[in-house]
Amino acid sequence: MFSIADNLKSVRQRIQKSTKCAGRESDAVTLLAVSKTRTAYELQLAFDADQTCFGENYLNEALEKQAELSERLTPEQFNRIEWHFIGPIQSNKTRPIAEHFDWVQSVDREKIAQRLNDQRPDTLPPLKICIQININDEESKAGIALNKLDDFARFIDKLPKLELKGLMSIPKASQSEEELSYSFQLMADNFKHIKEQFPNVDTLSMGMSGDIETAIANGSTMVRVGTALFGPRN
Ligand SMILES: *Cc1c(COP(=O)(O)O)cnc(C)c1O
Repeated sequence: MFSIADNLKSVRQRIQKSTKCAGRESDAVTLLAVSKTRTAYELQLAFDADQTCFGENYLNEALEKQAELSERLTPEQFNRIEWHFIGPIQSNKTRPIAEHFDWVQSVDREKIAQRLNDQRPDTLPPLKICIQININDEESKAGIALNKLDDFARFIDKLPKLELKGLMSIPKASQSEEELSYSFQLMADNFKHIKEQFPNVDTLSMGMSGDIETAIANGSTMVRVGTALFGPRN
């Protein structure tokens, strides 16, 4: 039985090792703790072990946990947390997302981007955005096709309350190691291309519990890890 603090330690070691193997800077990769279905208490345990970036998929669940954590932590502690929305977005849910998150990584429609921009409170800094790419052209999966990327990036870049930060992808689950590497490389090539056009772009969000190493070897700057930190989900 491992604790969340133990799991964090071993995931951080996996990240360090792969980053070093790839000859990249030791701080090149950020760990996003994917805390969907986890309790506020479990998030607090991770926070106590110095984890400050959390990714949530379900809006209502996330808002409840944010409210509970804001009571469990001091305001100074709570403000150190960076909240990432990484789940599917319904257009009638954009306002609370724009109000309660720092990042949205699952943006794949102009309508959603426009609404997040319009509903981002003026008192908050621009909302950081990753465009979700459907890298293996899966019919049932969210994300845009690569051939739509340039237009969509330009669209987001023009919206003043959004800051384009990069790309996110969830590759197809049943791929060989080779196919998976190829998918990640394709993401990395397109990331480089977008980065050249938009100077604030610095985030390539790819890699999960099972493929942290492959993602980092292929240029990921942010891994999104749930199971390896918190255990299997029900
Ligand atoms: C659930 C989820 C993850 C984490 O997956 P694990 O395999 O549990 O690490 C990462 N990214 C997204 C978008 C998710 O929905």
